[in-house]
Parts: sequence; structure tokens; C-alpha cells
Amino acid sequence: MKLTANDVSSNSNFLVLNSIRHNYPISRNEINEITKLSIPSVSRIASTLIEKGYIKEVDAGSLGVGRKTKLLDINETAVLTVGMEYDATTLKAAIINAKGQIHHCNDTDTTFVSTLKISNITPEELIKIISSQIRKLTNHKSLEPHNIFGVGVALPGIIDNEQGIVRFSANLSWGKNVPFADMLRAETKTHCVIDNDIKSAAYAEHNRRDFDSKITALLYVDEGIGSAVIVNGVVLRGITNSAGEVGHVTHDAQGMLCSCGKVGCYQTKLINSFLISEARKFSDINRVYEIFLPQIRKNVWAQRIIENYVSNFAGLIDNIVGAYDPDTVILLGDLINDIPSLFEDICNKYRSTFAGDYLQYELAIEKSMYNGYSPLIGIGVQASEKFFSDAAQGL
Ligand SMILES: [Zn+2]
Repeated sequence: MKLTANDVSSNSNFLVLNSIRHNYPISRNEINEITKLSIPSVSRIASTLIEKGYIKEVDAGSLGVGRKTKLLDINETAVLTVGMEYDATTLKAAIINAKGQIHHCNDTDTTFVSTLKISNITPEELIKIISSQIRKLTNHKSLEPHNIFGVGVALPGIIDNEQGIVRFSANLSWGKNVPFADMLRAETKTHCVIDNDIKSAAYAEHNRRDFDSKITALLYVDEGIGSAVIVNGVVLRGITNSAGEVGHVTHDAQGMLCSCGKVGCYQTKLINSFLISEARKFSDINRVYEIFLPQIRKNVWAQRIIENYVSNFAGLIDNIVGAYDPDTVILLGDLINDIPSLFEDICNKYRSTFAGDYLQYELAIEKSMYNGYSPLIGIGVQASEKFFSDAAQGL
């Protein structure tokens, strides 16, 4: 396919915009190094972007750099989107700014993420609720609905991000091939994007400013297992949008039936409900955290459950490392977030038992930085990226 002059210029606009979005504040010279576009081209595009209000000039001196060069920075409030996550029981929503942060209207409002408990709803019902949540959020932030440039919704299951279709989701029970993004666009009249919740989370983590990772793998272990891999900023999707889903790699071919229909997936040995069912053979516990309490943990049976869990988790890391050779693996989930010793134990187990010598120090294993909000942040960023990609064409 031959590119037209117009295509080339929109591509250059997008390159400049993206290099600022990922490296702000940044000089025109640094953009020239990243994009290989000439300095006059970079300057011309930057002027247009400033005129449009998408970026602003900041004084390098005021940032403590000591030089008087003007740097380019994203104007964070120029493009606001709504990022949402619906997991079949709870809808979380927040306004996301152009820097991929939860938008705060003042210093005291630092945590506003609306959370609504709703289950067993149809796609049409969810869209009505999303619409009212957008109104609630914009009212709270004293914004007008037209200040919102896009809406993103992260959902569990097989999501066709490009077409905006929910192919299949065991959690949602909506049947197959629901054109959710189009339905949402008809209601909200704005850019809409949907994606798998864990792929959205991986997107947020990978796009963190100053996060220097070529290949990031993300593992979410909780009531289910989700995982995703991002290579140079691109989420691996695979033929059926399930690339990287190592939770459903077979761990024991004679094992338990998994919710995916296969037998003996890693997921069967790592989800919270499995740990609870094991513990209930010995104790009357209700919540998975109780297994990790000191008074319970002194029991040999509790130690064995935890040891098995740690070992299986480390094996799961080994699977994703073997398949994708990432430089960073990020672990997510309530247990990982809330029990620091568990995270340490899993890292130690992986390094002592699974990692080859060459991987001992090469691979970073981290916890998520986003306190459970990475899916809604990641999808909000995707919505603004969609807006920016269209805007770059119109410059
Ligand atoms: Zn499975």
C-alpha cells in the first residue's frame, strides 16, 4: 500500500505526540532523536499541538535541569476520558487525564473512583448505568459531558479490542459476539474502546512514564487468573485474543476440571476458592486471608497450602518467562497486594527453583503500582490514544 502525503504527515504528527506522551517533559532535540524527524518538522508539529492545547511548553530551569531550554509537556486536562472496569459484580469508574492519571479537580479530591455493585445485567442495562455514571463523575468534577473525549470499558473474557466486540465472557453470560463498543458509542456519542481487563492493566503498567521495559508480562491471580504480555508498547493478542493466558496452561492432566472446560489448568490450583476449599478440610475459615493469619499459619496444614501456592505461582511465572522472555513480570491480585511476605516468598521461590542462572538478575518481578485501578487507567489511556490518533490525522 502506498502512503499519501497526508498519511505521512498524520503519522509524523502521531509520532511527535506519542513521544511527548511517553517521555514528557521532553526537548525538541530529544523528539528528533526518538522519531528521526527533522528538528524543523518537530518544531512545526509541536507548534500546532500547542495551538490545539494538547501540549504546553515548560521551563527546563523550573524542573531543576539548570538549562534554559523549553521543554514540551502534555497538557493533562486537555483530553479527559472515562476509564471503567466491570467484572460482572462491580463497576468502577474514574476520569483519566491525558497523562494516564486519575483526574483530580483539587488537592483534597485525590481518590474519587466511583464503585457500584451490580450483577447479572444485560449489555443494554450496563450501557444505561455507564451513561449515568459518566454524568455523576462529570458533575463531581464540575465538568461538562463535552469535556469527555472518550470512554473505555475493561471487561473480563475474550474481547476483540480492534472491532470493539465482546467475543465471549464466561463471567458476563452475554452470549457471543456482542458489539459493545458500537452500542456504547451510540449512547455516549464519543470515542469508545473496550478491552480485556488484564490486557488493559498491562497497558497501564507498560505505559507508565519512565518505565523502561521492552517486554512486560502481567499476572493477575485472584478469583481467576488473567495474564497479558506487552512487547514494545503493543499488547500481544493472538488469533483468538488470548495470547499470554498462561493460567490455562495444563499443569496436571489428571487434575481438576477448570472453569474454561479444560482439565488441570494452573488456575485450578491458584484461585482463592481452591485455597479456601483446601483449608476447610481442617478449619472453618470463610476468607482466603485467614490462611495467612499468624494463628492459623502455625498449623502444618496451613503451611503446606501456602507452600504449594507459592510453588505453583512461581511455576506460573516460569511459564510466562519461558514463553515470552520478558524483562519485567508484574504480579497483581488482592493476596499479592495485601500480604508482603507472600510476594517475597514467590519471588524467592521462583529465583531459587525455577530461574536459570542467566535470569537470576536480569528479570525484574514487581507488584502493580496502581492499587487495583490499573484496568480502568489502562482503558482510559486507550480511549485517549484513540482520540489522539484521530486528532493527529486532522492536524
Ligand atoms: Zn482453564
